[in-house]
Amino acid sequence: MYPDVLLHIDGQWKQAISGRTISIVNPATEAMLGSVAHAGTNDLDEALCAAQRGFESWRCVSAFERCKLMRKAANLLRERNEHIATLMTLEQGKPIAEARMEAFAAADIIDWFAEEARRTYGRIVPARLDGVSQSVVKEPVGPVAAFTPWNFPLNQAVRKLSGALAAGCSIIIKGPEETPASPAELVRAFIDAGLPAGVVNLVYGEPAEISSYLIAHPVIRKISFTGSTAVGKQLASLAGLHMKRATMELGGHAPVIVLPDADLDRAVRTMVAAKFRNAGQICVAPTRFLVAETVYDEFVERFSNATREIKVGDGLAAGTTMGPLANQRRVQAMSDLVQDAVRHGAEIVTGGKRIGNSGYFFEPTVLSRVPREARAMNEEPFGPLALMVPVSSLDEAIAEANRLNYGLAAYAFTRSAASSTRLSNGIASGMVSINHYGLALPEVPFGGINDSGHGTEGGADALESYLNTKFVSSLHAD
Ligand code: NAD
Repeated sequence: MYPDVLLHIDGQWKQAISGRTISIVNPATEAMLGSVAHAGTNDLDEALCAAQRGFESWRCVSAFERCKLMRKAANLLRERNEHIATLMTLEQGKPIAEARMEAFAAADIIDWFAEEARRTYGRIVPARLDGVSQSVVKEPVGPVAAFTPWNFPLNQAVRKLSGALAAGCSIIIKGPEETPASPAELVRAFIDAGLPAGVVNLVYGEPAEISSYLIAHPVIRKISFTGSTAVGKQLASLAGLHMKRATMELGGHAPVIVLPDADLDRAVRTMVAAKFRNAGQICVAPTRFLVAETVYDEFVERFSNATREIKVGDGLAAGTTMGPLANQRRVQAMSDLVQDAVRHGAEIVTGGKRIGNSGYFFEPTVLSRVPREARAMNEEPFGPLALMVPVSSLDEAIAEANRLNYGLAAYAFTRSAASSTRLSNGIASGMVSINHYGLALPEVPFGGINDSGHGTEGGADALESYLNTKFVSSLHAD
């Protein structure tokens, strides 16, 4: 059932002009699934012309009509949920239940942005002189180039796509080459809903070649990237060189602070689920567990027991609660980080190694008393590693949470209102969730600070980043 995935340019599904393709591998079996077309610069030139024409027509469609079309696409996604989820599990590995959830969540994100399109209000500024009217209006920024990764093939693309379309922009998406079929279905839903040719274009190929070509091109007015901090810095500097607006959703290294008065059952239940969802390949995954000394042993034991119950397997198999890692690079990275942590004195409580030698499976892993010098305590693991560290005070926990230059998500567990306030004020991070996992809904901001990037991909602010502010001052001439 897995298709050969094509480019979508100017309303047409097509092979690359060169005919080049990239092979797609199932991470659970390492079997070849199919292929995806590999765009060259001549394909990109066509996509750029189409995006310019698409912008000129789409910006003239009323917000009310844009909203109706987007909601239709959301409903098509819901109708096609099972098909899309199956493609996603085949190409990315996540359990089918997670893939279904992602595809339903994508539809909800589209609906939210569709409605928000109708609220891109301007304002009137009182004038100093009689006869002058001063207005502030919002206009779409122009054609957008978006670069989206493989961990949430649909949901990393849908936020950028929905924000751009709601604002009246056209877009070229460079999708994830390793997981191309499910994002192609997202684009198909919009095309089938009646989106005019050129408004959405989808390409795959060599990421660095595509990003350097598109960001520098005068047609492109804004970029949005989700991926690693290292690549984000390169793209942000290129955007700066060409004076392009940029949203950067980059890596994280989320601290989880567990205080002595925490509800440990709740902390274990919610954080085990959040840690090992998508095999830990999530930018907001809980990573550094900073646990009060007085409850440290109990927390680590309970967390590890719950971790041992995770059923690792093919995402399509019944009962699987964690799939393989998405690619061989992540398996190697996990092995290297675990070995390095052990060399620095960490103890493996559970897991720690690859499972079998076919498919990219890695054990859900808990490491205890991990020294600050271990690489995993400093680099984003982006995999199923939970790092446990005892702390002796709230101040020490906050200092450790803020030690790294990442600042995406942070979690804390306490029953004290005073401690909650100190944590939410003291942690330097784009998002803080206390006593539960409360992130990533369409209507709330989603984004980081410092090395985790800038801008937000959720809530009303997300739409703002696809809009220019124009000031108009007009003197009524008689
Ligand atoms: P990577 O850094 O090579 O790539 C990360 C993503 O950026 C991929 O989707 C890739 O296609 C894209 N990319 C790479 N170079 C690019 C370029 N020059 N222009 C445009 N796009 C480019 O690493 P990887 O092995 O694919 O992923 C692992 C790392 O990426 C992880 O350590 C994690 O930090 C990060 N990552 C983050 C997210 C996120 O949600 N923030 C998602 C996926 C990967």
